[in-house]
Formats: sequence, C-alpha cells, structure tokens
Amino acid sequence: MASPATFDIARRARGFMPDDEGLALHQAGRVGATVGPLLEVGTYCGKSAVYLGEAAREGATVLFTVDHHRGSEENQPGWEHHDPAVVDPATGRIDTLLHFRRTIEEAGLEGVVIAIVGDSVTVAQHWRTPLGLLFLDGAHGHEPAHADYDAWSPFVALGGLLAIHDVFPDPADGGRPPYEVFCRVLQGGEFAELLPSRAGSLRVLQRVKHAS
Ligand code: SAH
Ligand code: MG
Repeated sequence: MASPATFDIARRARGFMPDDEGLALHQAGRVGATVGPLLEVGTYCGKSAVYLGEAAREGATVLFTVDHHRGSEENQPGWEHHDPAVVDPATGRIDTLLHFRRTIEEAGLEGVVIAIVGDSVTVAQHWRTPLGLLFLDGAHGHEPAHADYDAWSPFVALGGLLAIHDVFPDPADGGRPPYEVFCRVLQGGEFAELLPSRAGSLRVLQRVKHAS
C-alpha cells in the first residue's frame, strides 16, 4: 500500500501534476508494473515521478525518468510556466536536477526511481527494454511531442500502458500537440483507451497489438 505521506510529498513538489491526475497515474502505474518497468519522459522536479515511483515500488519494479533538466520552451524566462527558483544562479540556466533529487529523497524512492539525464529521443535511440508503462510529458511543441511518441511507443509491451499528459480536446484549455498525438495513437489501432483512467488532461491507453 502507498503511504499517504508519499503522496503529500508529491503534492508539495514543484511541477505540473494536479493530485487527481497524479493518483490516476499512480493507478495506471500499478497496472503497468505487472507487465514491466515504467518510463517517464519529462521529469522536471519529480512530482509525477513520485506518483509513478510509488507504483513501481509497490509492483517491485523501477521507474526510469528521462529529462535533460534544462526545461521546455514554456519553462524559460518570460514564458508562462517559468519558475525563477529552478534557475542555477551560477549559469542563469534552468537546472531542475537537484530539485528532482530532493523530491525523490524525501519520498524515500531513491532505490526505485532512476534518473536518465539527456535528450529524450537520443536516449530512446539506445533503448532496448520493453516497458510496462510509458508516460509522455516532455516537450509539448508539435515536432518534439510526435518525436517522443515515435521514439518511445514501440517499447510499450503488449498489455502495457501508454499515458499522455496535457491532452486538451478544447484548444481554449491548452496547446494542441499532446491532443494530436492522442488522436494519432487512437487511429493507429495498436492502443485502446482505458476510459476509466481518464482524469483531467491525463489519458491512458493499453497496447492491444504488437508494434508494426
Ligand atoms: N512530469 C513533470 C512535468 C514535466 S515538464 C511534473 O510532474 O511536474 C516537461 C519537462 O520535459 C521539462 O522538465 C523539460 O526539461 C523536459 N524536456 C523538454 N524537452 C526535452 C527533451 N528533448 N529531452 C528531455 N527532456 C525534455
Ligand atoms: Mg504535463
């Protein structure tokens, strides 16, 4: 069972994961963990990694979490999701790695959550391990959102899950690319949506057909 204190750490962590969506992600992580290890694209300060890492711990597997820790476009100074607290004063650049380490340390998940620091697609090009769950929450521009899906989704094992964050059917609620990726996945026929897993902008799908 997850300790409520663990989720409190997720709630307090910096980041972009409302609690109801985080809890739904945790549930998806528990299902995915029965199939294989979990992998997240877009760590930031480790908020979603606590929800998923707790699921990995419960399922006796691990969560890999990939990020270059330099922030997405919308995290840069002058943009909507900029937080000056994650700027390294020595260089003036975003560096969320230390924030991530603190979050995971506090949550007691250092043995379960494994950070991979680097560009998502570059890491994927060297990846080989089938996944029980893939969570896409990296860069949200058109090109990188589709590139992350193309690079990582073939690794989702049959019966494994694909979770996508920031899916906004109404353009008034947010950017298009994650929603477009979600539509593309549905049309591709390899994944089917697990409707009860919907929460806010989180969508969860299951691989029902081998990657072509
Ligand atoms: N899941 C996080 C939020 C992620 S924000 C939470 O729960 O709060 C998106 C993250 O994607 C940022 O930290 C950014 O650095 C990362 N990112 C953007 N483009 C990337 C790329 N090409 N490779 C690796 N990480 C990337
Ligand atoms: Mg997100």
